[in-house]
Formats: sequence, structure tokens, C-alpha cells
Amino acid sequence: MLTFSAGPSKVYDMMPQYLQDAYQEGILSANHRSAAFMNMYQEVQRLFHEKLHMPEDYQLLFTSSATENWEIISQSIVEKASFHIYSGSFGKKWINFAQYIIPNTSGIKIEANEVINVPHLEIGEEFDLIAITQNETSNATQVPMEVLEQIREKYPEKLIAVDTTSSMAGIELKFELADIWYASVQKCFGLPAGLGILILSPRAIEQTERKGEKGRYNSLNFMLENARSFQTHYTPNVLGIYLLKRALHDIPEIQHIDENLRDRIQKLEQCIIQSKSLRLLVENSETRSTTVLGVTGTESLISEVKKAAEAEGMQLGSGYGPLKPTSFRIANFPAITDSEIDRLIGFLIKY
Ligand SMILES: *Cc1c(COP(=O)(O)O)cnc(C)c1O
Repeated sequence: MLTFSAGPSKVYDMMPQYLQDAYQEGILSANHRSAAFMNMYQEVQRLFHEKLHMPEDYQLLFTSSATENWEIISQSIVEKASFHIYSGSFGKKWINFAQYIIPNTSGIKIEANEVINVPHLEIGEEFDLIAITQNETSNATQVPMEVLEQIREKYPEKLIAVDTTSSMAGIELKFELADIWYASVQKCFGLPAGLGILILSPRAIEQTERKGEKGRYNSLNFMLENARSFQTHYTPNVLGIYLLKRALHDIPEIQHIDENLRDRIQKLEQCIIQSKSLRLLVENSETRSTTVLGVTGTESLISEVKKAAEAEGMQLGSGYGPLKPTSFRIANFPAITDSEIDRLIGFLIKY
């Protein structure tokens, strides 16, 4: 079964080889203070610079999930409170986690078709961090880099944290525009779940050190201290990190992946626009995601299309939360090949 689910999603076709090699290279039993592990961590960080264009002075850290990163940010970085701008379920979960740790957390909810109106934003002194879900997987929307840039220009003194769980390694991110970037590997990285990515700017590191929060198993200061020697403070997901290294090594540089995903999403969108019965979930092309396509229709049609797709060996991603009965989602992730996307278009065109 070929899955177009937006996470966990299809893994890279090279996976059987990577897994075999991991076993044979002996990395699976490597101690996380050994040279083998430290070299691997360093190599992954180097590949983040080379392939994903992470700036030289940004630090890569390993966590267990994007969800964990929500807690780490409030616990270890935020000094006063965070202000959240969100439109869907993941952004809402993030603000809820943040509010639990820091009750003064606040934010605004916008509509899926609404572009963040930066000139009208009012974020006061009581907030030191702005939280944005760059790619909202639940409703298939995204915040373009230009909008992040406007926010950066308007609030240069605040830290910006960006959830790119379903876009990092898929689209080209301009890391200089924010201080905290995070993801999980089971989306655009095309890997099995169980590893979170957290990337910090020098300013985010500085603020973490100033706050000085320590003592919890996932206190960021512990992670940073260990990362200086390419170690982790607890035994990490070594297999996940190994697979990440192999996948990053084999993929093209991000601008090429980005270009290809943009071509493919346009083809998919055209197919839905021409459909008699299906519609795009997000009408505004300025907020529509590049990596996740939302398709909507009547409840009976959506269930019919999903069943017919399964009969042809293709699993469409279900709609998320309240959108579940009347929509499905298609992951336009790099591990899905061009010919697999064409096959899906060949199927959808019938509707
Ligand atoms: C999948 C997803 C998450 C949660 O990721 P986990 O790895 O399950 O913690 C958070 N935010 C967004 C935007 C996501 O797509």
C-alpha cells in the first residue's frame, strides 16, 4: 500500500538498505559518548548546513518529537510569555501546552484562508517570543517566508519560534528569519517516527543560558552542554539519527527539492480545480501549503474516493479533527516519487 498520509508518511525507498547497513556498521550498539556517535552527530549537523542551508552559527539538537519541543520552548527558553499566531489543530495544541507551563501565554487564531496581517499585529512587551506554525498540517495551510520576514522586521527584539514539522526538508526555509525551528522526521524527512529536530539561533541559545533552567530530563541547557561535544545527555535514538544521516546524504540540496515539490503541488491543485466534484480545502493560494494538499467534498464522496483509492493500493490521508468526514489530505513529501504523484493524479482525474 502506497501511503499519501501526512505523517507518519511514506519513508524513502532506500530504507531497507539503510537499515541493513546500520546493523552491519555496528552503529546500533554504539555508546552515545563514543567517537562513532560523536562523528555521526557532527556529520548530521554538517549535512544540515550543506543540504538544508542551516546557517553556520545555528545549533542542531535531537529531541524525541515536535510535541516535546513545544514543552522545551516554554520550559527552557521563554522568559516572560509566548504569543501564538495559529489557524489549525497543531497550532492550537502548541498554545495549550505553552499555557499549561506559562499561564500568561496568549495568541490569536486566524482563518485558513487568512494571511497574517502583520501591520495590524499588536504584540506587547509582556511577550518575548512569537510562536508560528509555518506549515499547519491539519488544515493544509502555510505561512510564507515573506510573512515571517515582515514579522521579523516588526519585532526584531523578540525571539521567533517556528513549527516546521511538515515542511522542513521539503521546502527551503530561511533560517535567519527566526530563532527556533523544529520538526519531526516522520514527515518531509521520509524516516520512521521517533526523532525530533530542534534548531537554535545564537540568540535563542543566549536566552536559554540566561534563563538557566536546569533539572528536568529535557532541560535545554543539558542538551546544549552535551551538544558542544556532539553528545546527548541521555541515550538517544541512535538508529533514527543514523537514518537521518543516510537520508540527508542522499538527497539533493533543498532548493531542488523545493522546486520539485512546488511543481508537483501545482499539478495536483490543477487536477482538483478541474474536478467536477472535489474542491481545494484552502482557496487562498497565498496560504495553501506546498507540502500538504487538502481536498474537500461531500461526506459520501470523500469516503467513496478514499475507498476507491485503497482498492488501487493507495491510501489517502484522512482529514484532521473536525475536517475528518469532509476532506482528505495528500502529503506532497519528497520520499514520494514523481511517478507516484502522477499515478495519484491519474486516479483523481476521474472525479
Ligand atoms: C505532526 C506534527 C506535530 C507533532 O509531531 P510529533 O512528532 O507527533 O510530536 C506538530 N506540529 C505539526 C505542524 C505537525 O505536522
